[in-house]
Amino acid sequence: MNVSARIVDGTEISRAIRAEVAAEVAQLRAAGVVPGLAVVLVGADGASEVYVRSKARACREAGMHDRTLHLPAEVTAEELYGVIDGLNADPDIHGILLQLPLPAHLNPKPFLERIDAAKDVDGFHPLNVGRAFIGDPRGFVPATPAGIMEMIRREQIPTQGRHAVIVGRSLIVSKPLMSLLMAPGPNAGVTLVHRHTPDIAPFTRMADILIVAVGKPGLVTADMVKPGAAVFDVGITRVPDPADPRGYRVVGDVDHAGVSEVAGAITPVPGGVGPMTIAMLLRNTVEAARRDAARTRKRDRRRAAP
Ligand code: NAD
Repeated sequence: MNVSARIVDGTEISRAIRAEVAAEVAQLRAAGVVPGLAVVLVGADGASEVYVRSKARACREAGMHDRTLHLPAEVTAEELYGVIDGLNADPDIHGILLQLPLPAHLNPKPFLERIDAAKDVDGFHPLNVGRAFIGDPRGFVPATPAGIMEMIRREQIPTQGRHAVIVGRSLIVSKPLMSLLMAPGPNAGVTLVHRHTPDIAPFTRMADILIVAVGKPGLVTADMVKPGAAVFDVGITRVPDPADPRGYRVVGDVDHAGVSEVAGAITPVPGGVGPMTIAMLLRNTVEAARRDAARTRKRDRRRAAP
């Protein structure tokens, strides 16, 4: 008999996290600090604009200050550096996001490195990447892998001694997730496969926890999943759908219907990992504001000391 997997509801979990964030923001506001997030968007990109709007809405709902800077696609490198430097120096802004992709004439790397690591709530600055890798809590962990770890914790999915298999090797999702899962605490064993792995199925079948972050609808089918596994579908792809008023629908990398018959737990798309990303971004921004307030207090105390 087939048993359907438990659906891990990212919308519900992210709502709980956003309520916690809002409570922390209220505390900080009472102490005179309003956490602020700035998003820099260069040029026009439909998917990015939608994402940026939902980030701004989520900030406002949590009581945070948000600022979106929409720059023209033909902005020069010098101008973009200038914008980032301005935000680095702005005391009202605690988190800075540079929305990717940038237009083709701009290589994102030097701009990501220009962001003050203390305001890099996306966790893409090399200093934060390194800190996250060595388990230094002063680093910021990118929001999507942090969101997956939070789902694992809140859903009480066992990790210790279990085998986690990650499909994909991006810096945004897969690499940080690898170090988070194998760190002391979660204590999972981790295997990572990617586009150059000739056949991913023998690996995915061994997974107690399977995370798929590729962007290829239908990549993982039921025969590739161990019965009872927890499956996290990170992929987001728009596929044409004349029945949908928008003309498309959003799907993940996992054949959701088929895999639901085999897995123990599974995230849907949409409504799984996606909403967690914004919630964790807000959490990182509040943390950045809290640290900034602590630094300011320390500085003031030093100045006041005889
Ligand atoms: P990416 O787009 O940078 O790279 C894709 C990865 O997939 C690569 O590492 C590549 O090696 C691997 N790959 C490609 N074909 C493969 C195959 N046939 N078998 C195995 N591996 C293969 O990765 P990304 O930025 O992590 O994005 C992956 C997907 O996740 C995209 O659909 C993206 O939109 C989505 N995403 C979702 C969220 C969210 O909040 N839910 C956040 C980030 C990314």
